[in-house]
Amino acid sequence: AQAEARLKAHQPATTSDGQHIQVFANIGNIADAKAAINYGAEGVGLLRTEFLYLEKTSPPTEEEQLEVYQAIAEILDNRPLIIRTLDVGGDKQLPYLSSLSAETNPFLGVRGIRLCLEHPQLLITQLKAILRASVKNHNIKIMWPMIATLTELRAAKEILLQVQSELRQASIAFDENMEVGMMIETPASVAIADQLAPEVDFFSIGTNDLSQYVMAGDRTNPKVATLADALQPAVLRMIKQTVQAGHAANIWVGLCGEVAAETLVAPILIGLGLDELSVNPQAIAPLKQAISQLTITEAQAIASVALQQDSATSVRELVYPIG
Ligand code: PEP
Ligand code: MG
Repeated sequence: AQAEARLKAHQPATTSDGQHIQVFANIGNIADAKAAINYGAEGVGLLRTEFLYLEKTSPPTEEEQLEVYQAIAEILDNRPLIIRTLDVGGDKQLPYLSSLSAETNPFLGVRGIRLCLEHPQLLITQLKAILRASVKNHNIKIMWPMIATLTELRAAKEILLQVQSELRQASIAFDENMEVGMMIETPASVAIADQLAPEVDFFSIGTNDLSQYVMAGDRTNPKVATLADALQPAVLRMIKQTVQAGHAANIWVGLCGEVAAETLVAPILIGLGLDELSVNPQAIAPLKQAISQLTITEAQAIASVALQQDSATSVRELVYPIG
């Protein structure tokens, strides 16, 4: 039975009426990448690259980063590997960047893509390492964090184009067809998702941040934890809006916030139309199991009821066993 369970965990997750949902892993280092594959991940939906930058006295070099991205890409083989560019600021500080000095509201400050656009050299070095790791049969994709405006998205893509042409000039090989996507984690990005979608290859919804920003409830403050909950109807409606905008532009839409690991919630998320769910490696097998037990029609029905609830509590009551 154990061997059978293991075999099942390594098969793609399909609803009982035949819809494939991609189940990817969130990882933060090389050991996690190995765990992700062992637990049956079809790919990595979010590589948080912050670990390379934190607790250091200087930023990681291109070579240092290349080595790590290559190691992870080797482990993933030709499975998708979505590398998110540096997302610090907020509650994560870098001692070697002076502009990170005391902000009154760091989560509303120079964070994620904002910080990288303020320090383009940091982004250029990271992009070079990612591009150089993308050769051979790997399937690396880039993902921008914290985008709130089209201007930021275009500025980031412009830097990527510059780096690509620099590499071409130096005859350094990279994947010319690499997909580039972005996280949806600011309310602004949801509001303009129809404008953003035609300019990227995919969206991945970061409900950890999206919930805190939509609900105006700090994700690190336990006193507002019930407010900053991805199952708040306000957040669910934003997920729906994002999926619709993405699909209208023919791009796939995934979700990589912690809520995706809440197995009982899978019917709601799948009913909202998400194509991919990315979770911590341990959650992969139970999530695949949950997906195999539902039909798209049932999931859509539950999702449409969830969108009409008056609280996150009543949304959970729809899917959690009574008592
Ligand atoms: C998110 O915000 O939901 C997310 C996945 O990114 P992080 O938790 O790293 O901010
Ligand atoms: Mg986030």
